[in-house]
Amino acid sequence: MPESESAFAALQFLTSVGQPEQLPAESLPELAFAGRSNVGKSSAINALARRRRLAFFSRTPGRTQTINFFELGGRGRLVDLPGYGYARAPRSQREQWERLVGGYLAARRALVGVVVLMDARRPFMPLDAQLLDWLRPAQRRLLVLLSKADKLSRADRAAQLRSACAQLARRDPEARAMLFSSESGEGVAEARTLLEGWLRAAGEE
Ligand code: GDP
Repeated sequence: MPESESAFAALQFLTSVGQPEQLPAESLPELAFAGRSNVGKSSAINALARRRRLAFFSRTPGRTQTINFFELGGRGRLVDLPGYGYARAPRSQREQWERLVGGYLAARRALVGVVVLMDARRPFMPLDAQLLDWLRPAQRRLLVLLSKADKLSRADRAAQLRSACAQLARRDPEARAMLFSSESGEGVAEARTLLEGWLRAAGEE
């Protein structure tokens, strides 16, 4: 698909939300991105949008606990969920994260699919598994991107993908897993095509 036709090429910041009451109206299908802090989520979003760095991804601490909404050229929205798994996060921050993200995932009707980034070297850590458990009842489409795949040898990449697919199949037979690297570009075009298809399907319903 030419770049001009890609919804991701049109990515544009919409709003940042810190409280469930502030969520924008559900006017377009949403794709949410989730993952442990530092897993490579911002880099993945930038790679999908073919940007080096979005101005919005500043590292100010206040931003770490917000849900950030981006428009995808009128075809949908990309929803960047706050990272989880800070080893030293205070309990109050963990509770705020659960209320905000748990509430969004449980109740958002516009949410058509979720992309969960997991480090290809150590996927399915306990908090990743907990997030997948939250997603299960809602039956949404799920894509697991095994990030930073460039850090693994070819043989290890293949082994990690096989193991991730097997673990995922036990939870959700429809879910997909792909090797992904913002650095080498592996999986970027494939993920983009899959996600554009989800948005198209949601738009046709
Ligand atoms: P986030 O906290 O999940 O948004 O993670 P970032 O996208 O900010 O990335 C965290 C760190 O991992 C940064 O130092 C990135 O340069 C690095 N990183 C992100 N993606 C990749 C990747 O595909 N390959 C490698 N080798 N490093 C990456």
